[in-house]
Amino acid sequence: MDISVVVPLFNEAESLPELHTWLKSVMEAHGFTYEIIFINDGSTDNSWEVIQKLRQTDSYVRGIKFRRNYGKSPALFCGFRAAQGDVVITMDADLQDSPDEVPELYRMITEDGYDLVSGYKQKRYDPLSKTIPTKLFNATARKVSGIPNLHDFNCGLKAYRREVVKNIEVYGEMHRYIPYLAKNAGFGKIAEKVVQHQARKHGKTKFGGWNRFVNGYLDLLTLWFMGSFGRKPMHVFGFLGSVMFFLGFAAVVAVGAIKLKAICSGTPAPLVTNSPYFYIALTMMLLGTQLFVAGFLGELISQNAEGRNNYQIETEI
Ligand code: UDP
Ligand code: MG
Repeated sequence: MDISVVVPLFNEAESLPELHTWLKSVMEAHGFTYEIIFINDGSTDNSWEVIQKLRQTDSYVRGIKFRRNYGKSPALFCGFRAAQGDVVITMDADLQDSPDEVPELYRMITEDGYDLVSGYKQKRYDPLSKTIPTKLFNATARKVSGIPNLHDFNCGLKAYRREVVKNIEVYGEMHRYIPYLAKNAGFGKIAEKVVQHQARKHGKTKFGGWNRFVNGYLDLLTLWFMGSFGRKPMHVFGFLGSVMFFLGFAAVVAVGAIKLKAICSGTPAPLVTNSPYFYIALTMMLLGTQLFVAGFLGELISQNAEGRNNYQIETEI
């Protein structure tokens, strides 16, 4: 099978028939063998009934129905698990992404040899409250992830070689950083393609809240940490702990030296608690110990983790 189209959706009943017709006509015009997997993420409207109807008329349609709303990442995860096509294309259900982009995305994966091609909504039809924070978000993500050529990490329209989606785990709200997940898994051939974007026709955005910025940055931090130290937590905690401990030790020496100097010169020795070094010594040594403990705990956890020996093996001969 050439293409699996994976469509996560939450209350998008009005858009689904048009999306399906459009996708079908593009696929047939190019002679692709394909499947369309709709993942109904706990919709409370009649999206599932619509998907059932589409399935009755078109056996290329598949549907997965969540019992409740889990979020876009879990929906993508289950779509990826089910996908059988050589190239997997994700796309939002709200018709903001155009199915006409599919053939070129497919070509870039199969002919240009990219692992992942991300859409880039250069001209975006979203309110300013979405587009401005997004610029900042992408600039940070480019820096942290080390993927300098991506302008639009979170674009819903993306194409992947099948191995990529079978070897990454999109959980929580990590759909914002799939290129980074892919890179961490060793799929480094990542490109972008400028894509057409349209204003939402029906319904409204599911990602309007402010908390997504905070959560987005925290997720980025998590990914950076997991990519750099996930398999060797002691290297970061042990290093920081050593630095703290060394500073604390130096402060102890300073406290002792001040006291000794006073005793030797016969002046009445000051109380150690009067010295700022005393407090530095105290906090630094405590912090240092804590960090070391965190490092040991991290190592214990990663040693017992089920996936501790899951490495990305490309081929064996
Ligand atoms: N979506 C989902 N589960 C959710 C929220 C959103 O499956 O909990 C789907 C939604 O139906 C749409 C896609 O994710 O197909 C992108 O959502 P939306 O268009 O609201 O995001 P925006 O384009 O405004 O960033
Ligand atoms: Mg949208």
